[in-house]
Amino acid sequence: MKIGVLALQGAFIEHIQLLQTLDVAAEEVRLPEQLIDLDGLIIPGGESTTIGKLAVMYGLMEPLRDFARTKAVWGTCAGMIFMAKEIGMDQPLLGIMDIVVERNAFGRQVDSFETELAVAVLEDGIQRPFPAVFIRAPRLLAVKADAEVIATLKDGTAVAAQQNNWLVTSFHPELTGDPRFHQYFLKLVKGAK
Ligand code: GLN
Repeated sequence: MKIGVLALQGAFIEHIQLLQTLDVAAEEVRLPEQLIDLDGLIIPGGESTTIGKLAVMYGLMEPLRDFARTKAVWGTCAGMIFMAKEIGMDQPLLGIMDIVVERNAFGRQVDSFETELAVAVLEDGIQRPFPAVFIRAPRLLAVKADAEVIATLKDGTAVAAQQNNWLVTSFHPELTGDPRFHQYFLKLVKGAK
């Protein structure tokens, strides 16, 4: 199995390092032809406007959409914004997932925070909450079609969702060393159409 991590900007190295601890081959992706032999793709956190502009410049938009039609894709933070169909702002988006996302949704005072999330789809996900780091994070305002919310904050704010082979998280599972979200994504990769 080989997983690509979109390496245009942002926290791609941390995803690669975490995948390597799970003995999974992981590669940086910057060009359309690098998608060809991948089984799944992670779009990291960073700045979604920059990731979008660079993806347009490198001719990646259509190849990424084609890839996502049959393969598993996971967007963390800026990656979640980039995968959404609706964000209420004008910037380049893959626009594949039936979710409505609000950028920078947690206000200035609490730009960054860490909390624990009960996530039923993860191994021991209820008994052993997942440590989640939010950095100028987006939130999910709505999920549509067959997209489903899989994690919420205590106040009910939706912060992770899944639609078939596609996963999105508002937070950064690559930063805390807990591999369970990566393991869950690998399950989706194995089960993809
Ligand atoms: N605030 C960033 C954006 O809007 C996302 C932040 C992140 O990926 N940590 O793109």
